[in-house]
Amino acid sequence: MALSVMLDFETLSLKPDAVLLSLGACTFDTETGEVGNEFYLAIDPRAQHQRHISADTVLWWLKQDEAARTKLTSAIEAREKLDEDGDFTDEQLTELMEQAAHPIHHVARAFILWFEQLGEVQGVWTNGGVDHTWMDSLMEYSGFKVPYPFWLQRDYRTLKGLYPEVKAEPFGQSHNALDDAISQAKHALVLLGISNRLNNIPGADVTRAECVQIADRLVDAMMSNPAGGVERFKQESE
Ligand SMILES: [Mg+2]
Repeated sequence: MALSVMLDFETLSLKPDAVLLSLGACTFDTETGEVGNEFYLAIDPRAQHQRHISADTVLWWLKQDEAARTKLTSAIEAREKLDEDGDFTDEQLTELMEQAAHPIHHVARAFILWFEQLGEVQGVWTNGGVDHTWMDSLMEYSGFKVPYPFWLQRDYRTLKGLYPEVKAEPFGQSHNALDDAISQAKHALVLLGISNRLNNIPGADVTRAECVQIADRLVDAMMSNPAGGVERFKQESE
């Protein structure tokens, strides 16, 4: 087992102190190819005093798919229902808690608890540096420490840049922080597979073009099927 984490934020600005809307994360295993253990919480944007909102980002959100926007607004509705102090069954309460936007420091604490139960994590990946900055900012603002050392930070955007030929269609709903994290983890697994194959066999007759061809088929399989793609990649590339 070689567990890594992919994470993604949705925000209302691109600045380090952006108002944060949601945090999604999943684990991925670079040995077995499994994408597993998921984390998702919406963050209440209404109580993030002094944090930054950008008009450009708000206008960008207005142009995104309705499903992505509704995910954010329904989190506020669920929060309001919870705060009305109604009588809920246990199931209703669980469902509302999962959907609702939570105070920022609750989300920070929940992420720490989720991360700590994973056991040994070898790398924490994001799509570019800014999500790492947002994690730092989330924890500092909430009075907590990031639950992993900075040297575990990894960058999926750089990995993508090394293999621009291998494209991936998004899994699930774009700009849903969890679906984005899963898409990125699946694509990263394929790209790491190519990189291992090219690097671990000195003088082998496998070429970059062959790896890319196999990887293209694998990306299609993985994006439509939540499990099992990497096994096929291993078999086909052997
Ligand atoms: Mg995203």
